Amino acid sequence: MSHITSPDVGRVAVITGAASGIGRAVAARCAREGVRAVICSYPGDPHDPQETLDLVKATGGEGIVVEVDVRHTTQVEAMARKAHEAFGRIDHVVANAGILRRAALTELTDERWDDMLAVDLGGVLRTFRACVPFMSEGGAGVAISSISGGVYGWADHAHYAAAKAGVIGLCRSLAVELAPRGIRINTVIPGLIETPQSTDAVNSLGHEGLRRASADIPLGRPGTPEEVADVIWFLNSPEARYVTGQELIVDGGLVVKMRA
Ligand code: NAD
Repeated sequence: MSHITSPDVGRVAVITGAASGIGRAVAARCAREGVRAVICSYPGDPHDPQETLDLVKATGGEGIVVEVDVRHTTQVEAMARKAHEAFGRIDHVVANAGILRRAALTELTDERWDDMLAVDLGGVLRTFRACVPFMSEGGAGVAISSISGGVYGWADHAHYAAAKAGVIGLCRSLAVELAPRGIRINTVIPGLIETPQSTDAVNSLGHEGLRRASADIPLGRPGTPEEVADVIWFLNSPEARYVTGQELIVDGGLVVKMRA
């Protein structure tokens, strides 16, 4: 009897912001598929990246934890080097790290603007820039935008929306630039996904806001991190080998619903 092995087994995924939320779910999905996970974690985050590693191991997978602040080029370059030193290759990149802060225009100081752009847009650039030299033909990357900026405007979140709109332009351009090397780049645009970010009532909707917003979501509820991770997995996998420079909205139908 022949034994069929998935082409993904033994591959390596670098995932930023992997101590929590969507990033953690991506690491778990990679482990399920036999892809080794480089769990990149921000030291200032209250979540324990060890829990992600435990999840990966419980799935029978392999991984390492690497600390990184995506605002700093030297740290991001060290992250890519550590991933390569540990596993000898990088195949998938998921530029997922992000912050969300509430600030009305008149409160949107240069410092707040710069910090948001440094994480949510600059972090994507730094992550791809550092990892791509270690990738070969067949490699793929996904960055995370948002319906805020990617589709809608959002009051009191202009800096977040600007960064997330920027992610789309960055990724379309990288898709064109890296295609001759056989590397694909796509963007996922999540809607309302229940994670530490969206359940923060100060900067986002909070639990109660998410519950109220469910009435506007055709599928009737917020998404789970796993539902986004599955789409990220698909875009990075060989199943999507002819897809590059695209955005895929994962929102339960929120943005296509007409409000009468
Ligand atoms: P989350 O807060 O659980 O995850 C964000 C991760 O980014 C955290 O692990 C955090 O430690 C990390 N991070 C923050 N600053 C960092 C830095 N300077 N360097 C490195 N890592 C840093 O929330 P999430 O919802 O899982 O967010 C994942 C991505 O999805 C983010 O880019 C977010 O903007 C985006 N997104 C989320 C939603 C949603 O509804 N949850 C919607 C649209 C887009």
